[in-house]
Amino acid sequence: MSCMITIRLKSQGQGRVLSGHPWAFAGEILPHRHSLADGDCAELYDAQGRLLGSGLWSGRSQIAWRRYSFASRPFDEVFIAEALRKAVERRLPGRFRRLVWSEADHLPGLVVDQFDGVLAVQALTAGVDRALPIITSWLSKNLGAEEIILRNDAPSRVHDGLALGVRTLSGRLLSPDWFRIEGVEYLLDLAGGQKTGFYLDQREQHLRVARLAQGRRVLDGFCNQGGFALQAARMGASSVLAIDSSEDCTLAVARNASRNSLDERIRPLRANMFDWFTQQRAGRDGVVFDLIVLDPPPFARNREAMDGALRGYKEINLRAMHMLAPGGILATYSCSQRVNTGMFMGMLGEAAVDTRRTVRVLEVTGQPMDHPVLLNFPESHYLKGAILQVE
Ligand code: SAH
Repeated sequence: MSCMITIRLKSQGQGRVLSGHPWAFAGEILPHRHSLADGDCAELYDAQGRLLGSGLWSGRSQIAWRRYSFASRPFDEVFIAEALRKAVERRLPGRFRRLVWSEADHLPGLVVDQFDGVLAVQALTAGVDRALPIITSWLSKNLGAEEIILRNDAPSRVHDGLALGVRTLSGRLLSPDWFRIEGVEYLLDLAGGQKTGFYLDQREQHLRVARLAQGRRVLDGFCNQGGFALQAARMGASSVLAIDSSEDCTLAVARNASRNSLDERIRPLRANMFDWFTQQRAGRDGVVFDLIVLDPPPFARNREAMDGALRGYKEINLRAMHMLAPGGILATYSCSQRVNTGMFMGMLGEAAVDTRRTVRVLEVTGQPMDHPVLLNFPESHYLKGAILQVE
């Protein structure tokens, strides 16, 4: 059995889909007479009649077709169950991890994050949204989840004409609860927090950076719920200043710090990092840190915003380099999908020149193994970072 409906690329097309990329854009596809509904599956052929794969159709989105298989296969219960099983099998054992990641797991638009017994599910495309009953029933049966929360509040759903909303599979209200992640307890709001409730993609970096924190004065810039701050304090940082512009976040850091008996060493501060850096310089009171973390939100949400974004990244990184004691560490990240590793490292290089200090790259970091990057799909590489030492 196949998808039945076939569509073709325009003959003059240069689409990246011809070289392994999983997306075809609306303008690359030859007009057709099929009544394709959003979420249907369709086989895409190139102008020479070669099969490029089976994909999910999104008629209102620029990204009209997303491949889920190179073969001719319907997007049915058999396919979905197999893709889910393989996705879970590929992951290392754990209680807090991403189990399914969209194109990287042959399920374009599906994200499943595990928080111990609770699974947070995001459906970002019409095809996956329609298949949610199959997906949630497989997850309940095979993973013994206590609860599944459907986080269908991601704004990108609107591109596929999908409604926004959050609900649990059981229909019960899910209130914030304590979860112990890598030895630190956090009060997580899986129904309302940023992302699916926690920055799981930085879980390994929290530990990695904290290993360098012993006896150091730490600044956790853009701290969210305090992942870096809490782990650094736990690993013996002498003091931690944790800054976020959101009051919900600084309150969360305070609550988490006290729950973990780390409140004596962590000071949460609500501030805009850009303003805060400017004030420190104006005051010239010589605040110095031995370890600074910068983990800002994506500054470059579209191509037009790129120049401004790079200026923003450079500004905060330059200011941070200035504030480090000799030998101090800067752990700096970008989750802007449009800023690639080369651009990021180039920006850091420019900041380093301006400080006139020698900066060594101790490590270039990327995404953890449960958020794999697909080769031929640069869009799946969004998180990059560098651990630097400033002489
Ligand atoms: N480091 C965190 C994740 C950071 S997410 C972790 O590992 O869990 C980015 C955070 O930056 C968000 O919590 C957001 O509230 C905050 N933020 C956004 N703009 C900001 C600004 N201009 N100044 C300070 N914080 C900001």
